[in-house]
Amino acid sequence: MQKDLMIGISGVRGVVGEGLTPEVLVKYSAAFGNFCKSRGRNTSPKVVLGRDPRTSGEMCKLAVLSGLLATGCEVIDIGICPTPTVQMAVEGLRANGGMVITASHNPIQWNALKFIGSNGTFLGTREAEKLYDSVKNNKINYQSWSGLGKVRSDHSWIEKHIQKILRLKYIDVKKIKRRRLKVVLDCCNGAGGTASPRLLKALGCQAIELFCNPDGNFAHDPEPRPENLVSLCQAVKKNKADIGFANDPDVDRLAMVSDQGVPLSEEMTLALAANFILRKKPESKVVTNISTSRMVDDIAKEFGSKVYRTRVGEAHVVQCLKEVKGIIGGEGNGGVILPELHFGRDALVGMAVILEYLAESETTITRLAADLPRYSMIKKKGKLTKSFERNLAKLKRKYAKEKINLIDGVRIDFEDSWIHIRKSNTEPVFRIIAEAKSKKRAKELVSESLDMLSRK
Ligand code: MG
Repeated sequence: MQKDLMIGISGVRGVVGEGLTPEVLVKYSAAFGNFCKSRGRNTSPKVVLGRDPRTSGEMCKLAVLSGLLATGCEVIDIGICPTPTVQMAVEGLRANGGMVITASHNPIQWNALKFIGSNGTFLGTREAEKLYDSVKNNKINYQSWSGLGKVRSDHSWIEKHIQKILRLKYIDVKKIKRRRLKVVLDCCNGAGGTASPRLLKALGCQAIELFCNPDGNFAHDPEPRPENLVSLCQAVKKNKADIGFANDPDVDRLAMVSDQGVPLSEEMTLALAANFILRKKPESKVVTNISTSRMVDDIAKEFGSKVYRTRVGEAHVVQCLKEVKGIIGGEGNGGVILPELHFGRDALVGMAVILEYLAESETTITRLAADLPRYSMIKKKGKLTKSFERNLAKLKRKYAKEKINLIDGVRIDFEDSWIHIRKSNTEPVFRIIAEAKSKKRAKELVSESLDMLSRK
């Protein structure tokens, strides 16, 4: 096993040519082919394959195809498209599974494999472990010449995805069209370029495209965080647009820029979407991870709704959404999940919901954002030391009287603030997130804990 390969609940990631080599790609894809076969009734498992446009995508795709065909899969190649489109195609085609070749918001030198089960959602912890174990133990069964799979292309799924969004009962296409909203769209030359302008046009928006050429040459750091959205802010101002949208390269995260050209926190995407959906369906259930803003709790309270908190990661949020029959879910990084469409974070449905909210409220995004509960959030990371666990135990003892949640690291809730500490899955660091009514209090919480946890 390559040590510079990161393997976890969100897939298998590595730097191309270092951790992520053709051999590795073939092995994991072949293992996934076996995995799908073991679960399906048909002798030749059907697997949907899609990718983001990053420049290493072609090499990765050919290696993945090789692994899938060598294990007898019937591959439906749906081309360059959003990750949520692959999830919907798996469901729509009643496939045995799906694979997405994307490193999401990671820089250009990275690529990764994401694995989707027959229900269109990412593999859960146990399933993913089973898959990874078969690679570790070299238990891969290749077919002989007569049992190899076949591949066919089907590029209809972006359109199907868009049409399904337009048919949602929450979306009044005529109403949005009447507002003739001017929208600047930054897809960072990722997969959004294939789908997002089409959705905006279908909703009658005047779409101004910024980096919407899906050639994988990222125009800026692809993580849709405020510091990476400078061009989008400028373009919104210059064009006097109603809103700016930013998609990450595989279109499962959505960030926004206000009509004033001010970047809104990514946390606001889910908060605004939840505010809109709960207005339509009060007293229903919302699911998010334990690192997401308290704005969601305040909004839910207003509508008599309940919030369920899970471990960090789409698969965990989705599992809980299914269990409690949640109406909306997602993560604070701009990932909105609307189960009525499908169980996956989806920037396309996020944009449609926000546009509908704007159209119905007949106000500006600045106003809608200003009406949200106000919090300050600070995120920091620290280096893991040998004393980390001991220091963390000390911290827990210090706050033993507070409300402590241990499902994923340590989250401590105070009256008007909270702090969450967890080890990173991808780097030898720990992450601290604190949120409070005042910036000062959030800063204090972070620096105090950072200090305690970094002690030798
Ligand atoms: Mg992503």
